[in-house]
Amino acid sequence: MQCNRFKVANNFLRGLVLSVGIASASAIAQTLPLAPDLIAFNSPEGEELLLKSDAKQDFWNLSMQFVTQINQAYCGVASMVMVLNGLEMPAPESPQYAPYRVFTQENFFDNQATRQALSPAVVKRQGMTLDELGRLFDSHAVNVQVYHSADTSLEEFRRLVVENLDQPGNFVVINYLRSEIGQERGGHISPLAAYNKESDRFLVLDVARYKYPPVWVEAEDLWQSMATVDSTSGKTRGFVLVSRK
Ligand code: CA
Repeated sequence: MQCNRFKVANNFLRGLVLSVGIASASAIAQTLPLAPDLIAFNSPEGEELLLKSDAKQDFWNLSMQFVTQINQAYCGVASMVMVLNGLEMPAPESPQYAPYRVFTQENFFDNQATRQALSPAVVKRQGMTLDELGRLFDSHAVNVQVYHSADTSLEEFRRLVVENLDQPGNFVVINYLRSEIGQERGGHISPLAAYNKESDRFLVLDVARYKYPPVWVEAEDLWQSMATVDSTSGKTRGFVLVSRK
């Protein structure tokens, strides 16, 4: 009977292992497949690009602040929360973390100037344009420079952004059209974290972490995705540079 009991226990254990295995397999986050010319950060090649990156100062800070957007319209809010925390700006109280203060996507609009710049209801409905991203940053009393693609060039974008990514205390957020780099699908906002000169690729810390991993994108492709017209504003997308005043 010992054997039977052992067998029952053994079968039970095997069943448990199997069901836990199935449960965890179905619970693993499933991001969408990447287009062939994108390099996932979580691939051997993607890791190598960071190790050999020529400008990655911002990666360290942003990786500590990396968050997932809390709804499908909050890519801009999630990106700004990462940057404001990365700049160590004075943060509002956060009820769930009291007495600690930190920017969250829930308390981002607590500031009246921020709600006047753009209401959270509008952002939840339609996201935000590049100029609205700039105004929302401005409402949090940081220096922000807004660059529409139509007013600049790939060369200037590369020069300004590589310089920034190599410096502490300032950050880059881009507004681009996903479909131009082979992703699903509309306008999107995320911070940039690093640049690899040899491959001429930038690392996008995509805040839609349920959908895509961070990706290395060729500068030319990223530029084309920013040089698209946002139908809400009638202007091209682009990027912003942000620092403390
Ligand atoms: Ca920087």
